[in-house]
Parts: sequence; structure tokens; C-alpha cells
Amino acid sequence: MMANTNDFFGNLGKTLSETAKTVGEKTDEFIAIQKLRSQQNTLENEVKKNFKDVGEMIYQRFIGGEAFPEEISEICQEIMKLQSDIAECRETIAAKKGFSVCPACGANVPKESAFCMKCGSPMPEPDKEPEDAVYEETEDSEEEDSAEETVTEEDASTADPVDASAEQEKED
Ligand SMILES: [Zn+2]
Repeated sequence: MMANTNDFFGNLGKTLSETAKTVGEKTDEFIAIQKLRSQQNTLENEVKKNFKDVGEMIYQRFIGGEAFPEEISEICQEIMKLQSDIAECRETIAAKKGFSVCPACGANVPKESAFCMKCGSPMPEPDKEPEDAVYEETEDSEEEDSAEETVTEEDASTADPVDASAEQEKED
């Protein structure tokens, strides 16, 4: 029947445009949600950056000798240890590739260079140093010695023993 057919197409048209409208609304909503998500992301990253900045400020103050509550200084000490482990990795990698690590800026410098190509700092001479700085693993005796006499051990232990041990690994 004609009427029914018209009705059918009429209804279909209505339904389609309603569906399109709904889809359109859903798309708008979807876009709005995406926008909000990205806004949320941006804000969260800003929070992270600020937390990081606060952490680095505290850490610098810790390094500068400021006293902090135990839970904070423990984290700072952990960071110190991690950074020294990182430095060790970096120097070992550099040594394997025939480079030294610039003590000033951390750049890889060819072993024979007297100066860092990146920052111009003089490089420690790798051939002469090991003789003066032979670090043997005497962890136990070190503590016993320092307990008796001076407390100047800390300065000596912060010097880099990495180069010396790395040099000794050479095989022909
Ligand atoms: Zn440098």
C-alpha cells in the first residue's frame, strides 16, 4: 500500500535523521571526552613535573649538607647510590667503546684526548692515574682504621675508583 510505504520511508527517514543526530551527539561527546582526557593528561604531567622539581630541590639541599627527616634523607641517599651506579654503567660502556667520560659534563671523549670536546674541561690522564689511585677492596679494614683515628675517610671514598678498576680489566 502506498500509505504504508510512505509511512515506512517517512518513518525510516525520521529514524535515520534521529540516529544521525544521536550519532552526532555521541561524536561530539566523544570529542569532548577526548579533549578532557588530553587536558587531564596535561595537568597530570604538570603535577609530575612539579613533584620532580620539588624532589630535585630537596635533593640539592641534601647534597649541600642540609639536615632532613630520616624518610627524606633515606630517599636522597638512595638517589646518590643510584646515580653512582649510573655513572659506573656509563663509564664502563664508554671504556668498552674506547672512550673516557668527561668528569665535568659526562660526555664521551676519545681516550687520547686531553680535553673534553663538548665542554673543554681537561680530561684526567688515564695512563698516569691508576698508579696513584690503586683502590684495593679493603672494606672491612677501612672501617676499623677510621674508627681509631681520623674521620677524613669520606673525602677519599668519593674519589672515583671506577677508572682504576676498569683499566685493570684489560686483556691482551
Ligand atoms: Zn665535558
